[in-house]
Order: sequence, then C-alpha cells, then structure tokens
Amino acid sequence: MTDAPKQLFIGGKWLDAEDGATMPVDDPATGDILCHVADAGPEDGRLAETAAVAAQEEWARTSPRERSEILRRAYEIILSRTDELALLMTSEMGKPLAEARGEVAYAAEFFRWFSEEAVRIDGGFGTLPDGRNRMLLMRRPVGPCLLVTPWNFPLAMGTRKIGPAIAAGCTMVLKPAPQTPLSSLALAGILAEAGLPDGVLNVVTTSRAGEVVEPLLRGGRIRKLSFTGSTQVGRILLAQCAGTVVRTSMELGGNAPFVVFEDADLDVAVDGAMMAKMRNMGEACTAANRFFVHTSVVEEFGARLAERMGALVVGPGTRPGVDVGPLIDEAGRAKVESLVADAVERGARVLVGGSAPEGPGRFYPPTVLTDVDRDSRLMGTEIFGPVAALLTFDDEDEVLRAANDTDWGLVGYVFTRDLDRALRVSERLEVGMVGLNTGLVSNPAAPFGGVKQSGLGREGGRVGIDEFLEYKYVAIPVGR
Ligand code: NAP
Repeated sequence: MTDAPKQLFIGGKWLDAEDGATMPVDDPATGDILCHVADAGPEDGRLAETAAVAAQEEWARTSPRERSEILRRAYEIILSRTDELALLMTSEMGKPLAEARGEVAYAAEFFRWFSEEAVRIDGGFGTLPDGRNRMLLMRRPVGPCLLVTPWNFPLAMGTRKIGPAIAAGCTMVLKPAPQTPLSSLALAGILAEAGLPDGVLNVVTTSRAGEVVEPLLRGGRIRKLSFTGSTQVGRILLAQCAGTVVRTSMELGGNAPFVVFEDADLDVAVDGAMMAKMRNMGEACTAANRFFVHTSVVEEFGARLAERMGALVVGPGTRPGVDVGPLIDEAGRAKVESLVADAVERGARVLVGGSAPEGPGRFYPPTVLTDVDRDSRLMGTEIFGPVAALLTFDDEDEVLRAANDTDWGLVGYVFTRDLDRALRVSERLEVGMVGLNTGLVSNPAAPFGGVKQSGLGREGGRVGIDEFLEYKYVAIPVGR
C-alpha cells in the first residue's frame, strides 16, 4: 500500500492537489484508514482537462499499431502484477482475493481486446445512387473524453473505457470513485510504463465529484462523457451534457430478473444463481435482484440455494478461504438491512442469513428470502448486497410482465431446457443482455450495456470502440 501512487496524474506528472487537500481511503473489512490520496478541486480538474486537450491532436495522429502495442504492453504488465493489484483492490474495496484476481484478469482482457481492435478501425468507400458522386467514410476519434467510474469493479470499469479510448485515439480525464482511487492510480502508472504519452490519460481523484466534473461537462472542451454508476447520477450528468451537446455513454443501474422455469435443470439454475447473486458480494449492476421461480420448483430451488449460500464463509477478503467480503460502506450495509426488514415486514420468510453481525467491518451474511411480496421495496431498488429475494409465478406471460415491470433493463437470466421458450423469452425480456442457463454474461468480447434507464451505448465487443469514434463523410463528385 505504501508504494502505490497517491497523487493526481496530470500531463504525465504525479501532482498534489493545488490546495494540498487529501482524502482518506479506508478498508471496508475493518473501517481502518489505509492511506490518504490527493483530493482534487475544480482547478485540478481544469488542469487535467487542459492536459488532455493539449495532447489530443498529436495522439490522434499516432499509428493504430503504436496505440495497439501500448495497450498490449499494459495488458502484459497488469497480468504480471496480478497479486499486487488484487491485494490493492481487496484492501480498498473488500472483495475476496480470489475475486480480485479474477477482476485483474477481466480488466486486463479489455486492453488485450482493444489492442486487437485498434488496428481494425475501418472506413468505407461507395458510389452514390446517382452514379456520379462518390463517398469516402473516415472514422475519427471523438476527442478529449471524461470517464467517471464507480467503486464496485475498481480496475475493470476503468480499463473498459480507457482501452477503447486509447485504441480510438482519444485523450481522457478519468475520475474514479473516492472509495477506490488506488486501483486507478496504479493503472495510470502501468500505462505510463507501457509508453502512453504524457497527457493522454489524466487521473483526478476527488471527494468533490460535482465541483470537479460539472465545469468540465459545461466547458465545451470535453467532447465525450463515458459514465458508469447509478441511474440517479447518470440523469444529472446527462442534463449537464445537454448544454454543450457532449456525446455520452451511460452504463447505469440494473434490477435483473432471474427466471427459473419448471423444466430448468436445477443444478444449473442454482449454480447460475450463486454466480448472478454472489459475484462481488451482490455489489454488481448485473446482480440478480428479483428471482422469479416457478411455483412447482420454488421449494426445492429455495432449499438448495439457501444451503449453498449458508455454507459461504464471510470475512475479510484478504483472509484465506473467505468467500464473501464486507460491503463497501455503512450506507451500503444499512440499505441492505432496511430492504430486508421491509420485505420481512411484508411477509417474506428468511431461509438463511437475514441479520448483520456485530463488530467492526461492513459485513452482511448471504441471505435468502422466500414468499417475497411484489410490493416490497427491494423489487424496485438495487439491493447491492448478498440477498436473494424469491417470488413465484405460474406461466410465461405472467413472469414476462413481472420481469419487465421496471424502469431498468440491463440484464436478465433465464433457466429452461426448452429451446423455443428460451428464444421467445430472451426476445421478449426488455434488457440489453440475457444469461441463458448461465449466471455470468460479462465478457470483454461481447457488447455490455442496457436498455431503458439502464443506459445508453455499449462497452466491449466489436462495437465498444464505436463509442469513441465519429464518422466523417467526404463527398467526391467524379467526372464533371
Ligand atoms: P454513483 O454513486 O452513481 O457514483 C458513480 C461515480 O459517479 C462515482 O465516481 C461518483 O463519485 C460519481 N458521481 C456521483 N455524483 C456525481 C456528480 N454529481 N457529478 C459527477 N460525478 C458524480 O454509483 P456507485 O455507488 O459508485 O456505483 C454503484 C452503481 O453503479 C450501481 O447503480 C450500479 O448498478 C452501477 N454500475 C453500473 C454498471 C454498468 O455497467 N451498467 C457497472 C458497475 C456499476 P462520488 O462517489 O464522489 O460521488
């Protein structure tokens, strides 16, 4: 921890905040302060923006191969430091070390993927219908970008944006979440080591997000915002972007339905539920939030899930053998507690877990609730904790209506052995991604994103780079 960078990274230099301010970073497993990092104010934000704007033109002229190789080197460095980065992430965020190692690999993979995409940016040429005019299509970088990321995947939410921005030839200012600044600062150091020119990536850690970000969005020099976080904050930022018509990509909250039909393979469904619910302690936008289980199998599914959840070991993420780390902060834990209390008051039965332990750390036990009432608050709120809420249904139309009865539409999970039904339900679910007999959809090679109030645009996959490119059309009359 002591040698991890703790200053702002602006124009290739490590700097203190202009007013010397710092902010604490704590360990969610104990509440102890790990270290302090620079706490940027609006002046620092402007300085970072100026560095990004100054670097843009030359960066856009670099060859795709050069950008590709920087990403490839950074990918190799990240993998070679897996243990170190995983420990840093677990210390500031809480997830068990094994999951943190998994995230390091996932995060690095975005750099490998976009190192391969950087050299495949295509354009086009065509004859227009009149036969006399030609059209040349170029793809150009959008320009300086602002990237704002959440705390739940401290490394991967950064690489998922930085990778395509570098590949496309954009410069950027990254503002990570204040709970987990260390992973982003470490990433900046790695990219510099991999040869990223000064000013292409600038990292501004701050406890004053609104004061730093708003002037950049309203200032007219940032051309793109890529945001991952809650829908509530996404709406505020979209409004700020409207003034100067800043292009946006929005990866927002979810409220994923997890549907188990009567013909599902229950072994597969329970495995899927463990993944969709317990990855990252339930602190994932993709976390299954509402389990709809066919009446004929709910008892068996509930009992099996409760047994698996109850066997998980809760404790500090750095301790060997721990499956479930602490939640990020007291507010996060209090929210989970109040959602469970509300569901129980409305008649839910607790199959396992259900109350927070005494003592330090923000731990909450894996919990399964059954007979959950459809008016419970957790039906319309991201639980963001290790709580599975089970409801029942009797037919396909009914469950589709219930699953789609939400403002969100990030991901849905469907468990059935009937191919017709699998395709029908996948088409009718109002989501951007479907896990069909699986509880994991995230993959750097696939387009990640949601519909409705879960977001705009896609990250990863072949289309991920498009978010950072503009088309330019050149009209060419021929044979006048
Ligand atoms: P959040 O409160 O919306 O914060 C996200 C980021 O926005 C943080 O860096 C935060 O900094 C910043 N922020 C907050 N208010 C701001 C403002 N007025 N101006 C500028 N920046 C502002 O979300 P979170 O609690 O960190 O993360 C959890 C949420 O992210 C969940 O809703 C989850 O579903 C969503 N998420 C979505 C995806 C996806 O791909 N769709 C992936 C992961 C997470 P401060 O904390 O300092 O305010």
